[in-house]
Amino acid sequence: MHLPRSEAVDPTEAAYLRAVIEAYSRQVPVLYVILTISAVALAASHLRVAPLALAVAAPAALIAICALRIVIWARRRNRPMDYATACKALRTANILGPLLGAAFLGWALALFQYGDPFLQAHVIFFCGFTVVSCIFCQLHARTAALGVTLAVVPALTLFLLTRGEPTLVAIGVNLALVSAAMVRMLFVHSRSFREMILGQLETKRLSDDNYRLANLDSLTALPNRRRFFARLDESIEAKGSRGRFVVGVIDLDGFKPINDLYGHIAGDKVLIEVGARLAEAAGDDAFISRLGGDEFAVIFAGRVSDAEALGIAERMCAALQAPFALQGVSAKISASVGLVSSDQCGDSAKVLYERADYALYFAKGARRGRPVIFSAEHETAIRRFNAIEQALMSADIDREFSLNYQPIVDAYTGKVSSLEALARWTSPTAGPVSPADFIPIAERSDLINRLTQTLLRRALADAAAWPDHVGLSFNLSARDLSPEAMLGIIGLVRGSGVDPRRLVFEITETAAMRDFALAEGALNALRALGAGVALDDFGAGHSSLTYVRLLPLDEIKIDRGFILDIERDPTSRDITKSMVDLCRNLKLACVIEGVETESQRDILAGLGCRLMQGYLFSHPLKAEDIPLRLGDALLAA
Ligand code: C2E
Ligand code: CA
Ligand code: CA
Repeated sequence: MHLPRSEAVDPTEAAYLRAVIEAYSRQVPVLYVILTISAVALAASHLRVAPLALAVAAPAALIAICALRIVIWARRRNRPMDYATACKALRTANILGPLLGAAFLGWALALFQYGDPFLQAHVIFFCGFTVVSCIFCQLHARTAALGVTLAVVPALTLFLLTRGEPTLVAIGVNLALVSAAMVRMLFVHSRSFREMILGQLETKRLSDDNYRLANLDSLTALPNRRRFFARLDESIEAKGSRGRFVVGVIDLDGFKPINDLYGHIAGDKVLIEVGARLAEAAGDDAFISRLGGDEFAVIFAGRVSDAEALGIAERMCAALQAPFALQGVSAKISASVGLVSSDQCGDSAKVLYERADYALYFAKGARRGRPVIFSAEHETAIRRFNAIEQALMSADIDREFSLNYQPIVDAYTGKVSSLEALARWTSPTAGPVSPADFIPIAERSDLINRLTQTLLRRALADAAAWPDHVGLSFNLSARDLSPEAMLGIIGLVRGSGVDPRRLVFEITETAAMRDFALAEGALNALRALGAGVALDDFGAGHSSLTYVRLLPLDEIKIDRGFILDIERDPTSRDITKSMVDLCRNLKLACVIEGVETESQRDILAGLGCRLMQGYLFSHPLKAEDIPLRLGDALLAA
């Protein structure tokens, strides 16, 4: 084996050398033991015929060297050896092997002259046997084995051939041929040993690669979902020794539009940078991973307190708020974080994740852009959520659901412009449930599609009884925008006899954002039918003016959140004004939601708002109460 001296060692070669040394250190002691036993036997058989120097002193010296080598190699076993030491050990073996072989041969042949034919046969047996053992035991170290063979076999063969005794000549020839065959075997074996070791190294490399691929997110190079859950399991198991930890689930707000508007390459760039910013903000002790899409997760280990975790999570949110530079434009996103501490809940990674996810859901709804940690109230809310979900799954939609209608009023004339249908549910088990609670649950499955069908059919039947100039506004969910659901909706409208021009379908920004292309298709289909389309809750979510520009809209409903403070807060007034102006510029109708007081109405009217909706004008009404309660306001202006 060629032993490079250079400092820069090929790691494969280094690993191969280590494998050689390992195999060698297992077999070389055996070789020395064989040599020792054979030498003792040969010395013993010549004790009475040969001089003491040859029968005792010489073998004793040789055996001492063997014993020393046994000790040296035994000490090397199972000890990690660096490359340089391994090279040195093999080099010594390459030199010492032939020298020792020659010494043993010299000693044995020196005994030859003293014995009778039996003893001479013993000498020849000793020499031949030693050569075979040497090759055999050093199969992994070709150079050393070859060295010993060359040091012993030619000299021994020559010795035998020159004795002038036909039997010895025959033995010499035989020995030479057997040795040649053994050398060939040595070459074949050492080659296949090398191939085997290289194969093992390659297999290990591939399995390392596989491990990396299976556990790393290829885009951000962060640990992936699988690794995150494995780590979560480890953290739960080590909770006793390593203490409490906090898990966070991070979801980006406003990432989807970047993907939709600037393309996937830009989206990927943002995700990579998000990963880097999160990792930097979270610090070295946090374990950040990407769960998929725009969802990331973090584990804060090391007995972190809830307050500390919230603090770091705030920093992570803040880090994402700086704009992301994308080919010439800069995009903004924000993040919501749901946290849960390990001592809050059970011993299952699934439960922890679900609770962090629930806190996230809460963070998205209530405290956009701020982290929320799972608490006892969330626990209660989850129980209620589960109860509602159970009741909803087995609900009799026709019997348990009904509609209320809330007027949208022209504030200048006081006349009803249209009525918005709002779902109501009274469950036999859970009692009256707000749509704000059951709609999101229904939206998790195709239940929402059945609900939409039933309620729209009813709303259309009710609207047929209203004066022709009074419109019907109907809320749609993201799942209602699929082509199949759209076909059902369009079919219902066509079959109802209600003029589609009286209809406005409301969809929220979040629903439109879930799949922009789908939303665009659905809204175009509704407009082709003759119905109008309104963007609901404008400003409540992650508002993007680009969406307003790109979606085929007729109307915008400004979220009630904006006018809550309008009487006191000039900024609210300015924002509302600019939104009203925006609608005017884009030639979109504008409805202000949630008007509760006269002073709000007056301020809004002063800002140029005409269409309003809210408790000031009317609470949502049962269909049968509409003529009674709205009376004149329903009549044509
Ligand atoms: P939304 O479409 O924004 O409906 C307006 C909500 O604000 C209604 O709540 C209404 O009762 C309430 N509201 C109206 N005026 C005022 C006011 O002056 N002050 C206050 N504080 N609230 C006011 P509701 O009926 O609980 O509906 C909640 C949400 O549930 C709706 O919000 C809508 O997104 C969803 N939803 C309701 N019915 C349906 C439906 O049939 N289908 C779908 N997909 N979603 C629905
Ligand atoms: Ca609505
Ligand atoms: Ca709304």
